[in-house]
Amino acid sequence: MKLAIEEHLKCDEYPRVGVVVAKSGEVLATGHRGETRSVHAERVALRKLTDDEIQGATVFTTLEPCVELHEGQEIKSCAQLLIDSGVNEVVIGVLDPNGTIYSQGYRKLLENNINVSFFNRKLRAAVEEETFEFGDIHKVHGCGKRRIPVVHSGTELEVQFSEKDERIINIKWATLQPAHGCVDLSSNNGAVRVASGARNFGDISDPMIFRFPSHFARMNKGMVAIVKPANTTFYVLIQLVEIFENDIIFKWEVRNDN
Ligand SMILES: [Zn+2]
Repeated sequence: MKLAIEEHLKCDEYPRVGVVVAKSGEVLATGHRGETRSVHAERVALRKLTDDEIQGATVFTTLEPCVELHEGQEIKSCAQLLIDSGVNEVVIGVLDPNGTIYSQGYRKLLENNINVSFFNRKLRAAVEEETFEFGDIHKVHGCGKRRIPVVHSGTELEVQFSEKDERIINIKWATLQPAHGCVDLSSNNGAVRVASGARNFGDISDPMIFRFPSHFARMNKGMVAIVKPANTTFYVLIQLVEIFENDIIFKWEVRNDN
């Protein structure tokens, strides 16, 4: 697992992926994303071995193997490649937060009788920090725009005032309903206000103009909400930019509460 992490740190493109193929405690091959241009790390590593060598091997990969994203895909997905190669076990660092892949690579391996386990918690944290361009997907600061998956019980985020100012407001995205074009934004009791009529953050001079604070807001595309829990000295403006099948794009901006 540590070797796979060393491999993924060699990547200069995101998401970083490192792979180690081992058998009977011996490392047979390594690979990382970018080692061969536009070839996924699993394939890079397996290509270095003969079919016989791969039989019964264990593959350590820092990121969940990809699955076919559309019918008749030209290049076989890494999950399929692993299944066809005859490996016995796959040890995964983290599941791919990309909503179109999330947990599907894992499930596909299991369904095809591959043993699957995961890196331990500490190593998972190390992988997560370095895998994605935007670092920890559960933390943002200042202002910006981000695409995040909203799956299962929801996605929690810490909005930190700035890199140096560690004041934090917690928000959560949940209950994504692409068919209805909405998703729920929530925070503490009475912290969330819908900025009715506002089309962008510049339209909002004083957040307290907007009434009826609640613990959540059902957001449609373009809507702006304000999150200000009691006893906080700043607030966050949130706008829902886009809704996809498993992901959303939102913008945020922190402001001091003067
Ligand atoms: Zn892949």
